[in-house]
Amino acid sequence: MAKRYAEVNKNRCVACGECMYVCLKGAIKIIHGRYALSNSDKCIGCGLCEKSCPAGCITMMHREQVSE
Ligand code: SF4
Ligand code: SF4
Repeated sequence: MAKRYAEVNKNRCVACGECMYVCLKGAIKIIHGRYALSNSDKCIGCGLCEKSCPAGCITMMHREQVSE
């Protein structure tokens, strides 16, 4: 699994859809035309959505190291 994943600050999202268009993994959806939601299970951490977001509301997060 990728070390990073994208997280959307939905309070700042303007639902433009840019992040959804650039995501090659289909990991982002626009919910009810109001905000973007990322699926961390599908996300490969490429960061394209973060670069594309005009509102600067996507942050790349590091997955927590889980010891098994
Ligand atoms: S980081 Fe890449 S794979 Fe993950 S949601 Fe953004 S564009 Fe999609
Ligand atoms: S690019 Fe940014 S503002 Fe546009 S839908 Fe995605 S998260 Fe929201």
